[in-house]
Amino acid sequence: MEPNQPKRNAGGPVENKPNLFNFLIIGVVITFALNIFMSSLAAGSKTQIEYGQFIQLVENGAVKQVQIGEEQIALTLKGESDENVVRNILRLDDVATTKLPSFSNGNQVFYTGRVEDPLLTNRLLQHEVAFFRPIVQSNPILSFISSWVFPLLIFYVLYSFIMRKFAGNFGAGLGGMMNVGKSKAKFYDMEKNTGVTFNDVAGQDEAKESLIELVDFLQNPDKYRKIGAKQPKGALLVGPPGTGKTLLAKAVAGEAKVPFFSLSGSEFVEMFVGVGASRVRDLFAQAAKHSPCIIFIDEIDAIGKSRDNQMGSNDEREQTLNQLLSEMDGFDSSKSILILAATNRPEILDKALLRPGRFDRRVIVDKPDLSGREAILAVHGKKVTLGDNVDMKEISRSTSGATGADLANMVNEAALRAVRMGRAEVLQEDLMEAVEVVIAGKEKKDRILNPKEKRMVAFHEVGHALASALQKSAQPVTKITIVPRTMGALGYTMNVPEEERYLMTKSELLARITTLLAGRAAEEIEFSEESTGASNDIEQATKLARSIVTQYGMSDKFGMMGLESPSSQYLDGRPVFTASDVSSAGVDEEISRIIRECHETALSLLRENRAKLTEIAEYLVTHESINGTQFMELLKP
Ligand code: ADP
Ligand code: MG
Ligand code: ZN
Repeated sequence: MEPNQPKRNAGGPVENKPNLFNFLIIGVVITFALNIFMSSLAAGSKTQIEYGQFIQLVENGAVKQVQIGEEQIALTLKGESDENVVRNILRLDDVATTKLPSFSNGNQVFYTGRVEDPLLTNRLLQHEVAFFRPIVQSNPILSFISSWVFPLLIFYVLYSFIMRKFAGNFGAGLGGMMNVGKSKAKFYDMEKNTGVTFNDVAGQDEAKESLIELVDFLQNPDKYRKIGAKQPKGALLVGPPGTGKTLLAKAVAGEAKVPFFSLSGSEFVEMFVGVGASRVRDLFAQAAKHSPCIIFIDEIDAIGKSRDNQMGSNDEREQTLNQLLSEMDGFDSSKSILILAATNRPEILDKALLRPGRFDRRVIVDKPDLSGREAILAVHGKKVTLGDNVDMKEISRSTSGATGADLANMVNEAALRAVRMGRAEVLQEDLMEAVEVVIAGKEKKDRILNPKEKRMVAFHEVGHALASALQKSAQPVTKITIVPRTMGALGYTMNVPEEERYLMTKSELLARITTLLAGRAAEEIEFSEESTGASNDIEQATKLARSIVTQYGMSDKFGMMGLESPSSQYLDGRPVFTASDVSSAGVDEEISRIIRECHETALSLLRENRAKLTEIAEYLVTHESINGTQFMELLKP
């Protein structure tokens, strides 16, 4: 539901660009008129004759004067010369005589092409013909036009042509650079009515609650003004991508029935200096005209990054940020403009943005919990035709950690699958398959395991499942499969917690690590071999073990000493190690010890249940997947 490009510019002022086409027409007309004017100046009524005829005329003394030009020689006949001689030379009797109404008139002019003729001067002198080279009279107006107006015109035409070309290729890019402060209107979207309400946003009850108040500010400003309360200017929506921040902002506008201006922070920070700040100015000017309204700045961290933590500071961004700060201070709250911003990295924002009077409210939009996921699935389930056997509760239980966007995607995938299967409604199996598609990537048809690989993968996966089932603190198994997926896993075991968990105990963490390592353990027991299939398990297990030592304070060696601090927690950023190098080596030792111990546990668990391991694994080889109930049946002694 993100606004898409073509809709941009919707609310901007109409641009007043001079029309290239008009300019071209005017240019052509002017050139045409000038040409006619100039040629009519130059050309009298002239008749062309041969060079030989010209020489004959000269030798017969019929020529009065000659103008020797670059290409042509023009000659004026003597008025008193013998008409018959001239007629004879010019063979005028062959041609229509009417062409020469009265050539005895001394002004009658003929011309001939100029020929390389060294004797010409002598001949002319001999027959006393006056000859000269014409001096080109320069017309001041003409020369002004040709030396100034034309080049400018041509330059302009070229310029606008290039501008068009570039504007087509790079959007507002180059255009923005060349018309600094001119084309300011291309960077935001304006929707008169978003049509989104709070009902479209599910599972974000706390966030909605704090936003409902803002809706009231926009709708009944007088109520607050009367008592002297100032309307808050901005709120910051904080949370991981896909949790519905944009949706919530739209819902606030939709509920308050006010226009919604939206733009993305990264679009501000373009290469062209000065544009960002003037864009901010323009945006606020537009918003003031449409108040009450909402301005939504997505990815505000792109502009709002703290100003002092950069090595090479970005002037453009600072100017833009400063402009934003001063605009936020500038408009008075009577204008009823509400600024919402979204970010998933609140910790890097400039403190000036967060102080009271600016984005002083912070609305946390976190990943949905079990009931939240169920509500979101219900919202999106309404958009498709659901079969009777659909149990959204089960789906929401197996999608722990999924965001609203993931869930919306799953419902859509399920609908697509139903269509592929030639059904008119979405069934539970479509949804379950969609969950797997989104979680583990699409089922890969073309990757075929050879029988040996298949057995190895089966034992590996059953190893995970058994370890999980045999440990008290571990999570139950809902599905084991050895159908390869595109995301790299050759098979996987799905564990679903019985209830949403916010805390984990140390024994649960260790059980989780043991479960992760049990895949490899099963390979070792059955095949006395190790395969590459455990790399992802190892990575996860190590990460968990590391957190146990560095963040959860659960190791004997370091106790509750904090060794790492999390960074950008909403983007799964790598934690930053804060202790000394000596401790770092110690941490590695601790991690290695935890992993080794858990590996031992996994090995002994599986050895004790070797018969079950083989039985279930062989079953999996033939059936390729086992669901939770089947697994429990098989596990029974
Ligand atoms: P964000 O801005 O936080 O990255 P969006 O608001 O763009 O996420 O969400 C993307 C899509 O995911 C929405 O258009 C909507 O279809 C779906 N979605 C996300 N969160 C929710 C929610 N809480 N309720 C319903 N749909 C949601
Ligand atoms: Mg968004
Ligand atoms: Zn594994």
